[in-house]
Amino acid sequence: AKPRVVIVGGGAGGATAARYIAKDSNGEIDVTLIEPTRTYYTCFFSNLYLGGFRTMDSLGHSYGTLAAEYGINVVHDWATGVDRDAKTVTTAGGYTIPYDRLILSPGIDFVDGAVAGWDVSSQNAMPHAYKAGSQTELLRAQIEAMPQGGTYAMVAPPNPFRCPPGPYERISMVAHMLKENNPTAKILIADPKEKFSKQGLFEDGWSTHYAGMIERVGPDFGGDNVEVDPNAMTLSIDGEVTNVDVCNVIPAMKAGKIAEIAGITEGNWAPVNAADLSSKMDENIHILGDACAQGDMPKSGFSANSQAKVCANAVRGALTGSTVFPARFANTCWSLIDTNDGVKVGASYEATDEKIAKVDGFISEVGESADVRQATFEESVGWYDGITADMFG
Ligand code: FAD
Repeated sequence: AKPRVVIVGGGAGGATAARYIAKDSNGEIDVTLIEPTRTYYTCFFSNLYLGGFRTMDSLGHSYGTLAAEYGINVVHDWATGVDRDAKTVTTAGGYTIPYDRLILSPGIDFVDGAVAGWDVSSQNAMPHAYKAGSQTELLRAQIEAMPQGGTYAMVAPPNPFRCPPGPYERISMVAHMLKENNPTAKILIADPKEKFSKQGLFEDGWSTHYAGMIERVGPDFGGDNVEVDPNAMTLSIDGEVTNVDVCNVIPAMKAGKIAEIAGITEGNWAPVNAADLSSKMDENIHILGDACAQGDMPKSGFSANSQAKVCANAVRGALTGSTVFPARFANTCWSLIDTNDGVKVGASYEATDEKIAKVDGFISEVGESADVRQATFEESVGWYDGITADMFG
């Protein structure tokens, strides 16, 4: 019988791994992808939807090509259990699917009780919009419905979390939307972190494009002592209560629940070996993307895609004896601050015995010309098209 690879999660990491294993093994490996949704909406560029630069449709990707062109067995179902001794995955739909290698790329879930007053049952009143789709649409509708001069609040997450510049790109895009439609509105950020990704670039951009609109309260002033009331629509920072019109709560994160169910997490994340993204607790399971603790890479779609290709190469090697190349990884995170004002930060990485280790990096600079910033934005649009084709075919 052919060796069997089962992949849980058809997002940035899982779709890439499925496609590369199927494409490069020429039918020698049986690939099953378990993913509940029929259309995957990318979180990447979902902030641009909030800013009015993209449609929701342009962020949606389906699995037809992975099934039709690459012969991947796409199962639309939730994985609910992993039996590591029997090497099977069970699903909500009642299936038991055997594997020789299991790849988990389930993304994130939220830490219970991370923000006082909030849990997922409050996500309609106070959306996180940190899993894209209906949450993102809801957040945009709430921004559009804000009264003139109203307040948009964000509770930013502690490290480590999905997409380090994501909350701050979102602030930029919300500010862009409000500047056009609601110019006296205010944005208030409660942030538990001392500093954040591309901070100098964002703060410079905010003062250039959105002067006086954005206030960020850090831990020195109680940004880490936050409580929300989704019924009263209030945000309390260090005991000071503010009425808000929109409250975007982005709680602390952990690996998608199935990683915990499989018993391969330590704390909030699943530790992996850098060379092949295999679990430190089970050599037949690999964990990709946001859910894994791998070292220096940020939790991004680009990182998940990069890790997936390394993992796919290693899994094929283990199952069919094909050549395994030394692990190399790359990431760039682009952010849009205002129309044609794009910035980026990125790095290359290698596998050491201990972790995925950064080799060298680059970052946009404050004071770059408008042409450079526009070119950076255009580069990001090309990246989006390229990487989604690399994931979904
Ligand atoms: P995901 O892409 O989330 O995929 C996980 C999949 O697993 C989901 O489809 C889910 O349905 C499925 N799943 C979960 N549990 C189960 C289960 N039990 N059974 C079956 N399926 C399951 N990254 C960038 O590179 N560039 C950006 O510009 C960027 N911008 C971002 C902006 C925002 C606002 C946000 C929130 C994120 C952004 N990211 C960006 C980060 C990026 O979206 C994530 O890092 C990336 O999606 C991680 O890939 P993943 O495979 O780990 O998880």
